[in-house]
Amino acid sequence: MQSKSEVLASCNLSQEQLDSYWMPYTSNREFKKNPRMIVSAEGKYFTDAGGRKVFDGLSGLWTCGAGHSRPEIAEAVAKQLTSLDYAPSFQFGHPQAFELAHRITEFMPEGLNRVFFTNSGSESVETALKVARAYWRKKGQASKTRFIGRVKGYHGTNWGGISVGGIAPNKTPFGPGLETSHIEHTMLPENKFTKGMPDEGAHLISGLEDMIALYDATNIAAVIVEPMSGSGGVLPPPVGYLKRLREVCTKHNILLIFDEVITGFGRMGSNTGAEEFGVVPDMLTIAKQVTNGAVPMGAMISRQDIYDTFMEHGGAEYLLELAHGYTYSGHPVACAAGLASLDILEKEQLIPRVKSLSPYFEESLHSLKGTQYISDIRNYGFAGGITIEPAPGEPLLRPYQIAMKCWEKGFYVRYGGDTIQLGLPFTIEKEEIDNVINAIGESINELS
Ligand code: PLP
Repeated sequence: MQSKSEVLASCNLSQEQLDSYWMPYTSNREFKKNPRMIVSAEGKYFTDAGGRKVFDGLSGLWTCGAGHSRPEIAEAVAKQLTSLDYAPSFQFGHPQAFELAHRITEFMPEGLNRVFFTNSGSESVETALKVARAYWRKKGQASKTRFIGRVKGYHGTNWGGISVGGIAPNKTPFGPGLETSHIEHTMLPENKFTKGMPDEGAHLISGLEDMIALYDATNIAAVIVEPMSGSGGVLPPPVGYLKRLREVCTKHNILLIFDEVITGFGRMGSNTGAEEFGVVPDMLTIAKQVTNGAVPMGAMISRQDIYDTFMEHGGAEYLLELAHGYTYSGHPVACAAGLASLDILEKEQLIPRVKSLSPYFEESLHSLKGTQYISDIRNYGFAGGITIEPAPGEPLLRPYQIAMKCWEKGFYVRYGGDTIQLGLPFTIEKEEIDNVINAIGESINELS
């Protein structure tokens, strides 16, 4: 591994430049002592400042399932940049945004067919929450303002997202947010080392019913969950859980939002988690994989009658039906990247590939059972989570050390809280699956 000064020299960076960047979700002090610089990426591999190839075991940040630096996306983006670099999306349109919106609906479950573009997962969540509240007002039920999220849920970093999110370090530094309540997470001790969907947990939906009894459905706008909780530790939904959730929301006239920023476009082996788990929400949020990570983009996709409600109660036709949107909503370059990415997913049949290879990944991942410090393993599709027992007095040290050891060995995996997370590229080969799993096992063993 290169020393810090070698890294800076090969990147042609000064200490001042290193210090200037306040890095997101990064231990800045530690990183700046030991910078891990990625200088290029192709296919399933990053190249670091020292020229080492590093296997990307998280598809970027669950973004680049089709592999990095895809020429088809680069060409589409370049062409777009030289023909229409930007078009205002307020009161004016450009064809690619409509084309991509419709294309996205083809990946959505039946009934979700109105697409609102954003630039990130956080903005998609914010949009869904705002639409939920405004929808009830349009329906004359303005008291429906409370949101229900889930412990361990991750819904991005904006105020709505951290309010409904259920990961304490993302919330507590920022003080009060929206009125929210949280149902229990599904990580039950009896489900440890379950392959795929755990058997136990559907009963936890009774917690939602208790909450509805406490606050009254007339005060609750929406429930938001990730069909498979990702950043909270990779928690596939228990058998029957999402169906019960849907039934309770329908019964009590509460909107159900699926945050599919990770699970949308193939990660579960289906177009969406909704499709994979057979439950259709009222709104669904996406980002990440929609452009294969190449250009920031997100979207909120809603049921048509939610959209229609805004149109019907929109007042005079020249007025805005929803006073919400972003300067870069439906950005032409993001749309070009999105269209090219979805083409790749389809042409290369990458989503069925995830489905057909996921049993192999499951077996390989679970072969780590019995390795020291591993107290649980979970998986679904091409997502995997490994819980690491805390070191005495240092709860998060071991996952960090394991991820860093993997990096030294030429494998990028993520640690989040007490979990090592894997989000394999959709193009991975069996041998590469085994290599990344072996690297995790070796890294853990070398810690002792
Ligand atoms: N929702 C979920 C489920 C996510 O996993 C993420 C990011 O990982 C977000 C929202 C936020 O997305 P972004 O970082 O693009 O704002």
